Amino acid sequence: MKVPFLDLSQMAAEIGDELTQAAARVIASGWYIGGPEVEAFQAEWAAHCAADHCVGAANGLDALVLGLRALGVGAGDEVIVPSNTYIASWLAISAVGAHPVGVEPDPATHNIDPTRIAAAITPRTRAIMPVHLYGQPCDLDPILTIARSRGLAVIEDAAQAHSATYRGQPIGAHGDLVCWSFYPGKNLGALGDGGAVTTNNPDLARTIRQLGNYGSERKYEHTMRGLNSRLDPIQAAMLRVKLAYLPAWTDMRRARAAQYMNGLDGAGFGLPHVIAGVDPVWHLYVITSPHRDDLAARLTDAGIGTLIHYPHPPHMQGAYSDLGLAPDSFPIARDLSRQVLSLPMGPFLKPDQCQHVIDILRELNSTYRAAHLG
Ligand SMILES: *Cc1c(COP(=O)(O)O)cnc(C)c1O
Repeated sequence: MKVPFLDLSQMAAEIGDELTQAAARVIASGWYIGGPEVEAFQAEWAAHCAADHCVGAANGLDALVLGLRALGVGAGDEVIVPSNTYIASWLAISAVGAHPVGVEPDPATHNIDPTRIAAAITPRTRAIMPVHLYGQPCDLDPILTIARSRGLAVIEDAAQAHSATYRGQPIGAHGDLVCWSFYPGKNLGALGDGGAVTTNNPDLARTIRQLGNYGSERKYEHTMRGLNSRLDPIQAAMLRVKLAYLPAWTDMRRARAAQYMNGLDGAGFGLPHVIAGVDPVWHLYVITSPHRDDLAARLTDAGIGTLIHYPHPPHMQGAYSDLGLAPDSFPIARDLSRQVLSLPMGPFLKPDQCQHVIDILRELNSTYRAAHLG
């Protein structure tokens, strides 16, 4: 039995007709930038996130950049960001001329460790960027408390957390700004690039809307040096179709995560630890193992697709070599990058496929155990 890591073509098989009809609607409408599909999706996504405002962007990285700029973060400022996130979180901070200041994750949850944040704050710190990694919300209350007491903004990177909840409330407006990606492989994905920012702050929403539209609210009047970063109508139409399925697709991810959790209990792998008060959406189901590379190779041989999120933390990438950060500047991020393995996960992963992955993993672990004892 072959188990792909994630097969997006299966989604096309299920809802392809609806997607085609929605695309045809946009083609016939004559609206190719902005317009009713974008307005409708923004309203629907804001409602889904229980946020007052949603502003579309061209992609998730731009959503973060627009958010940071709207907060006034710029040259010489520092932004606190997890040491083990996808590099886009760091790149957004660098793109506005600010300096990413890494903070180590809690190795149990892989999310930023709130108890380490205070020590990273300097007079130049302007914002904290928690990342809800793998679809599990960070522990936001202590982060918001530190931010408020120190006068810092909170800009959440929610690119992996569509529909996740924190203390019963959807991710979408806990911090000042919440940034989304609709990259095709995300839990809510377009058929190309897309992004958005949600917020309860009307002034920030307005600034982001202008910044993404050449710094303009009225045609040919430019009050800021903006960029061109808008959600396009075809993608908005695709997202509207898929948003209707998101609750069911999220339930299926949760069911498979529960199956992995039960099936792999006691099998010798590090399993995801979920903190109290959150409901994760399992963008990724990530286990840890000291035998990660061997495990990945054997799973590939068995026809099971896996990926590594992420093989190199940002501070160990060439893009940040100028910061002069040694690999062990962030030892938790470095160690996790050597042990994490993302198992097949998605709304179309079938229970028997999931069970097959579990069986093979249990078998592999007994060989490691035997080798160790021998
Ligand atoms: C996907 C992702 C982004 C970037 O989104 P794009 O739409 O690909 O630009 C940012 N942060 C995290 C954590 C992501 O997973």
